[in-house]
Amino acid sequence: PLVYLNGTLTPLSEARIPVLDRGFIFGDGIYEVVPMYARKLFRAKQHLARLFRSLKAVSITNPHSEEEWMALIGKVAHAHPSDDQLIYLQVTRGVAKRGHAFPKEAVTPTVFIMTNPMTLPSAQAVENGVACVTMEDKRWLHCDIKSISLLGNVLAAQYAVEHDAAEVIQFRDGWLSEGSSSNVWVVKDGKMMAPPRDELILEGIRYGFIEELCAARGIPFESRRISREEVMQADEVMLSSASKEVLAVASIDGRPVGDGRPGPVFRALHAAYVEARKA
Ligand code: PMP
Repeated sequence: PLVYLNGTLTPLSEARIPVLDRGFIFGDGIYEVVPMYARKLFRAKQHLARLFRSLKAVSITNPHSEEEWMALIGKVAHAHPSDDQLIYLQVTRGVAKRGHAFPKEAVTPTVFIMTNPMTLPSAQAVENGVACVTMEDKRWLHCDIKSISLLGNVLAAQYAVEHDAAEVIQFRDGWLSEGSSSNVWVVKDGKMMAPPRDELILEGIRYGFIEELCAARGIPFESRRISREEVMQADEVMLSSASKEVLAVASIDGRPVGDGRPGPVFRALHAAYVEARKA
């Protein structure tokens, strides 16, 4: 497959970055993952807006306009045979002599784009839901920035794997935050809820999207702090991300959520999601 690196399309196996790239040395960079269905980007403007916000938050110069980003993404996607793809974008601060603070001299950000075939949850996972395990959120206090420094998320994802779970559900001081790479939603008495859009979670592009789907279907939605007890006693719990779309949680720490089957709110939202991506 061809990837984009600093101005050129090149085979992935030939793409190279210098070892002093601050992404490699410090995890000093930002990324995005943009879904494409039937060769059409899904919510690309929102993904780029989040990329721009994250770059700004860490003072990395955004190297491209929205139009330029769209064109670059288009080029990489076009070179790939799959109609449904997950496109990965990464910008690091660039290459400089090692030192924690920003380099004094001007540096050129490193820009990397690759794509892979979209891998959606299996039909079985959609039908039956998935198992999750809970853990304390041990990440930093700027989870709203889509940083490539992902060690906390990596360790959380590995914890899920080692506990035969599809995802972790993290809590900070007893309050729901999010998964290792997904947002978490809770349904009680027909009302959909998600934690506030603050610095303790990454606001998924699906956050706003699912909110819109709820509004269109008359499902009440509230953004507020959600306690561990509320999660454990919820009628439904679900996950959302670019690659999971919306996915029901069947069990948490081995205990069934509701009756242990994906519930009506999940079914309605999943159907609406599938419909929207065809549009
Ligand atoms: N939270 C975290 C920590 C994530 O990594 C992701 C996936 N990017 C999400 C939430 C969901 O975001 P999105 O809906 O944009 O995929």
